[in-house]
Amino acid sequence: MSPLRPFACLVLAAAALFAVPAPAAHAQAPIDLLTASREQGKIALVAAIGRLKALEAASLSGLISDPFVRMVQQPTIDIVNEWLRVSFDADSSTFHYALRVAMQRMQQNLSAYSQISYTPDEPGCQGDSNYAFAYVGRPDLGVHGCHAVVAYKGPVCRSEVLNHEFFHIVGVNHGEAGGLPVPTNFYARTMAHALDHADHLLGLASTLAYGSASACNGSN
Ligand SMILES: [Zn+2]
Repeated sequence: MSPLRPFACLVLAAAALFAVPAPAAHAQAPIDLLTASREQGKIALVAAIGRLKALEAASLSGLISDPFVRMVQQPTIDIVNEWLRVSFDADSSTFHYALRVAMQRMQQNLSAYSQISYTPDEPGCQGDSNYAFAYVGRPDLGVHGCHAVVAYKGPVCRSEVLNHEFFHIVGVNHGEAGGLPVPTNFYARTMAHALDHADHLLGLASTLAYGSASACNGSN
């Protein structure tokens, strides 16, 4: 305490005498963290859809040929090219198709309802690498959060995990639907794989909303 400010110190000391003790801080319940993360994930989806719609409008109207509009939209084009395995300049009709399907699936994710629960003892939650699970095309069976995503991960990762699971409940797989050969590596190689891959749609949404899609690699 500075000797130049004795009055302030006295006031603080007096206040301390009469202060009501604050309740002890306690951790939020896992289900509350998971529910809040679903809301955060939905905000990211809304932001992503907004950017994709702006790009689609610029492209379909022809405004994209204006150098300034193109410059503004280029980051979005690059992100879509990367995550959906398309090329705007090589094949714009395929690009537009991918854009439409991705927006449709994000919209389905946003409006889907499935009961979120915290189920650390379920077999699907065993091990520290399992964050959550759900059943493809089955919102009625719920979205299950695991111990690891609550205990070791932060809100951004949790929101990405929930977006991933909600893509599953609206019918998105890991790139293997329709008899497609399963990609030999984790990431999809073709547009068809990418549009049917929860990580690609999640990666697209997170990169558009946050600038990256790697929150679960750290503790964010
Ligand atoms: Zn999955």
